[in-house]
Amino acid sequence: VTQHDARKLQSGAEVWADICIVGAGAAGIALARELTRTDLTVCVLESGGLGPDKATQELAQGMVTEGYFEEGSDQYLLHSRIRQFGGTTNHWDGACAPLHAVDFEQRDWIPHSGWPFGLEELEPYYPRAAPVCGVKPFEGSIDKVQGRGHPIFELPEGSGLEHRIFHHSNDRRFGTKYRRPLQRSDDVSLYLWANAVEIVTNEDARAVMAIRVETLSGVSFLARARAYVLAAGGIENPRLMLNSNAVQKAGLGNANDLVGRYFMEHVFFHRNSLVISKPIEKISAYERTAAPDGKYDTQVVFSLSPELRREHELLDSNLRIRTAEPDEWHKHSDAVRMIASDLDEVHPTDSKIARLRFIPELAPNPNNRVRLGTDTDELGLRRVQLDWRLTDFDKDSWERTLRLFAGVFPLAIGGRVRLGDYVESIGHQSHHIGTLRMHRDPKRGVVDADCRVHGIDNLYVAGSAVFPTAGGVNPTLTIVAMSLRLAEHLETTLEPEAPEVGDAGDDD
Ligand SMILES: Cc1cc2nc3c(=O)[nH]c(=O)nc-3n(C[C@H](O)[C@H](O)[C@H](O)COP(=O)(O)OP(=O)(O)OC[C@H]3O[C@@H](n4cnc5c(N)ncnc54)[C@H](O)[C@@H]3O)c2cc1C
Repeated sequence: VTQHDARKLQSGAEVWADICIVGAGAAGIALARELTRTDLTVCVLESGGLGPDKATQELAQGMVTEGYFEEGSDQYLLHSRIRQFGGTTNHWDGACAPLHAVDFEQRDWIPHSGWPFGLEELEPYYPRAAPVCGVKPFEGSIDKVQGRGHPIFELPEGSGLEHRIFHHSNDRRFGTKYRRPLQRSDDVSLYLWANAVEIVTNEDARAVMAIRVETLSGVSFLARARAYVLAAGGIENPRLMLNSNAVQKAGLGNANDLVGRYFMEHVFFHRNSLVISKPIEKISAYERTAAPDGKYDTQVVFSLSPELRREHELLDSNLRIRTAEPDEWHKHSDAVRMIASDLDEVHPTDSKIARLRFIPELAPNPNNRVRLGTDTDELGLRRVQLDWRLTDFDKDSWERTLRLFAGVFPLAIGGRVRLGDYVESIGHQSHHIGTLRMHRDPKRGVVDADCRVHGIDNLYVAGSAVFPTAGGVNPTLTIVAMSLRLAEHLETTLEPEAPEVGDAGDDD
């Protein structure tokens, strides 16, 4: 049996594997699954069980002290991640898209931007990450959508507008999808109801010796391994490092005060932005359409070209169309009514009206950060205080981007765009990015290009905490691609040593 209920272990027990993974969400499951292809043994510590549990979920409670939310909002951290096997993929929408080459670049107008490698480093992993997330690879995907009778607008050369495509997985719950394969593997031991509460190091904190684990029922044990991977999500990973302060008082790996900083999210808003376009039959590719196997949907979106963004020094973003039928117009806001009256003048019969959902990138900012508050959870761990607010640069970049969209849209596809008030109906996408950023220089990043924590020989991080910038697309496909890459690194680093030729042993 490779699945264990940690509540039934003896307190004081020690479990052992080559690699210990903390957290079984998208990052942890993708990594564990990939490691089953190697000779390495794996132990996965998962806080929750196979289904939801209120007391376990409550461990995720924390406060947001600044940002969009009212002062002291206590709902965001509780509801934007899920603490059970499968992690937040138990709730995610399954929208997948790879990052673009420009997202990895050091963009002079965005302080702290730049990954330690370019898109080419992840290119081998994206096509393998796509099926793990339940979608097909992206190569030639826009052409295929067109081939299935969903035409897209021909964007004039130099229009500044670009198409991108999202694949939305319909087979996306990692917990359901990968439970059996992991249970069947002899090399993976899964511990449910097992909360990592401390990363235990040697006396100079250069090596991790164990993870201390506790259950809500009071069992305490140690998980020991040759290498440890934190895959508990973009908030819990830094929380665990900050709470593990027995040797390094400011928190493990935090000598340069970087752990928890540079938090990024993806927000979205409609801002009553609308396009009137014709002809109507061209819209379907831009709405969700089912791929032939029905396993995923596709959706084409708009973005500004990298050249235009570079010229205007803008963050990345994408714009999704959501059409409204004429008999629904009255349900929308004043701006829809205003544009509808424009519409009467312009194309009285055969036009389409649409809301434009704007999803921009947020710039990395050291003051947006996961800190520890004074409250503690049921297991004695200090809870999170998240500081998060928009900078003038974010707001200014979004404003200028929307105006550029409004300018180039009519030229590229016909119609009109009307912009409403700035912050109307702003929402967040529950993406937790950047809190353990990757940089070759320990003074500028918590992990190195292999996702190993600087200064600690055997501690790694999986998940979007390591992304230096967020790009304009959802993170999970890239999280999985990075987990596949990390598996390869761990395999090469920890490979069992081959016996020397001539060693005594079985001849066959
Ligand atoms: C409503 C919603 C919609 C979303 N839609 C999309 C989308 O369409 N596309 C997209 O790309 N992303 C989406 N996301 C985000 C997506 O779910 C996350 O990017 C992804 O799940 C992150 O994977 P992860 O493994 O890093 O973290 P998680 O999936 O959160 O997994 C972390 C795991 O660690 C466990 N854990 C936490 N602390 C401990 C501890 N101390 N000890 C042991 N285990 C621990 C948790 O129980 C959990 O199982 C959405 C999120 C939400 C909430």
